[in-house]
Amino acid sequence: MSATRCRAAARAPAAACRALPAGTAASAAAAGGLWAGVGRADITDYQAGPVNDPLHAKALVLRTAETMAAVVTVDAVALAEIGPVPSDFLSILRHALQKEPGIAPDHVLVNSSHCHGLVCADAATRAIQAVREACEGLVPVAAGAGVGHEDRISENRRLRLRDGREGDVRHAYPLVPDDEVVGVGPIDPQIGILRLDRLDGRPLAVLYTFACHPIQGVPSGANTADITGFASAAVEGALGEGAMALFLQGCAGDINPLWYKDIGHPRDAAPLGALLGVSVLQAAKRIRCQEGAALGMVRRVLSLPRADLAPALAALEAEEARLLGSFVGTSLNLKGFLHLAAIRGLAPEHPSYDSHRYLHDRALGREALTCLDARNRRDLEQYAANILTMEQLVRVRENLRLLRMHHEQNLTAGTVTLDVELLGLRVGEFVLTTFPGELSVQIGLKLKQRSPHEFSFVAGYTNGYIYYAPTAEQLRNRGWAQEDSDCLLAPEWERLYERAAAAILRAL
Ligand SMILES: [Zn+2]
Repeated sequence: MSATRCRAAARAPAAACRALPAGTAASAAAAGGLWAGVGRADITDYQAGPVNDPLHAKALVLRTAETMAAVVTVDAVALAEIGPVPSDFLSILRHALQKEPGIAPDHVLVNSSHCHGLVCADAATRAIQAVREACEGLVPVAAGAGVGHEDRISENRRLRLRDGREGDVRHAYPLVPDDEVVGVGPIDPQIGILRLDRLDGRPLAVLYTFACHPIQGVPSGANTADITGFASAAVEGALGEGAMALFLQGCAGDINPLWYKDIGHPRDAAPLGALLGVSVLQAAKRIRCQEGAALGMVRRVLSLPRADLAPALAALEAEEARLLGSFVGTSLNLKGFLHLAAIRGLAPEHPSYDSHRYLHDRALGREALTCLDARNRRDLEQYAANILTMEQLVRVRENLRLLRMHHEQNLTAGTVTLDVELLGLRVGEFVLTTFPGELSVQIGLKLKQRSPHEFSFVAGYTNGYIYYAPTAEQLRNRGWAQEDSDCLLAPEWERLYERAAAAILRAL
């Protein structure tokens, strides 16, 4: 599954990193080539309640003679807009890192894992410290790229429905009934890996990317870095030598953990994370690192069209009104419904008494029990239909809430476009391009397939957050699933982004 080749790069002697002790800087200048260092900070909010496992900001600093870059991974839901990380997190980091250790703002890449844990109020300060720690520990490294495979822990959460629409798998509302579901979308089982070893062969860092919402939680409900936190801990424990595993979230917009809606077992991210961790290790072990890897970084700002959400809002409000008007009264309440449903399950032919009474009535030409059964059956069916209508209403109202929020945001933005930052990073043969939103998995699969590089990967959730970014096709479903409702973008965004990302991949 994996292969490795690192592009050799002839480099001039490195300039000193301002954070380095003079002796180390002199070594860097003499040695040239690629240097790397790692640092970590605990950013768990210990005031917010019980903690199962810590959340981290981890830093990988990379430098050659010409370039210094920082990759920061943050165990948080997003870098802006939603969750506890403030929207100025990235700008605070960039400003501080430009001053010390002198990393250009364009060379700072920050990815949020999208775990739904709670981070402390001073997470930015701690992340900055992690980067400075990484810079202080710079050592010459060999680099290698490869891929792993993990198809046991994720599923596509969008469901193709019989009526042509798409539903989705969320805790915020009930699933659509089984008989309406006719298909599911793809997953991306590929793990992208950059391995960095010290020149004596000891591992320094494994940077890996995979696509899955890390939102399984732990049985106690305590704060957790979730699936990817467990995976990284497993990798670090197995590698030893102080090696760091850093996770970059991929195109996970429509990818959930497997068993996400299981009500028979406690929700537990640990076994899913362990599977991912083992797969990362198996692949990382096969990677052979080479010295002299090139380091490159590019940044583009792309203007994407905001959607006019008024038509989708009007359509969904009409559907809400239709559903509200479709409830039909019955004589049943919940208690009566559950009683009749249970009895019918046990004795569908004779729900109202034992069978001999039915035989007795039939012998005498009476139909009292069969008439009662018919009336109860009608009420049961109507009550069940009301429940399904209620489930639809819950879905519609939640998606209406999202549409209204984004409609308001787009109206008050004062511009018809939305600027997003795209980064490209090359380390040897490891090539990465990023997006500040929740890209659907199909977009990542397509970009990787069309890339001119063997080891190309796409990370969402990076350097900002603009909610979901589904495909143009998925946006035809606006209002019926989260990804298409929780979105600011017009469908044309996809073509513009894919063109820009392809250009970045070519430029690296
Ligand atoms: Zn999400």
